[in-house]
Amino acid sequence: MDFAAYADAGVALVNAPLGDLAALRRHLRDRPGYPERIGERDLATLRALQRRLREVVQAADAGDEPGTVARLNSLLQRTAVSPRISGHDASSWHLHVTAPGTAVGNDIAAEVLMGLAVAVIDQGVDRLGLCRAEGCELAYLDTSPNRSRRYCSQRCASRSNVAAFRARARARAGEQA
Ligand SMILES: [Zn+2]
Ligand SMILES: [Zn+2]
Repeated sequence: MDFAAYADAGVALVNAPLGDLAALRRHLRDRPGYPERIGERDLATLRALQRRLREVVQAADAGDEPGTVARLNSLLQRTAVSPRISGHDASSWHLHVTAPGTAVGNDIAAEVLMGLAVAVIDQGVDRLGLCRAEGCELAYLDTSPNRSRRYCSQRCASRSNVAAFRARARARAGEQA
């Protein structure tokens, strides 16, 4: 995992259904070792983190840069982040973070907080946002070169484009009537 992947994991955590432990295990199915190790305490940790991270994204989405940074800092302060150079994928050395001596939920917290902190520093607070599609509140991290992302997914983008097209068509029909 690199920090870009950790940032994506942070956004995915904001959007994850965390109804019960089975849901959390499904959410973490691509992370070897994690689904087996997590328990109810980690579920509580990650649900609380999810709520706080949603507030981070809401602040970013509202253009509140100091508020976004303050919220991330307050979360980082409560997480014992420990870095470690890793070369497990034999491609290049890269940094892993954990919260040693604590439950795996805190390791995940360390990862996503560092990922989001680096994303905000390197790419800008305005890269974090909430989907503009009607009825969708999912978070996204905009990594497009022209900073044009407004939707969580291609599905929401198409849905909104179709709705806007129909609204324009209705307006035109109204003008002609
Ligand atoms: Zn790695
Ligand atoms: Zn959406």
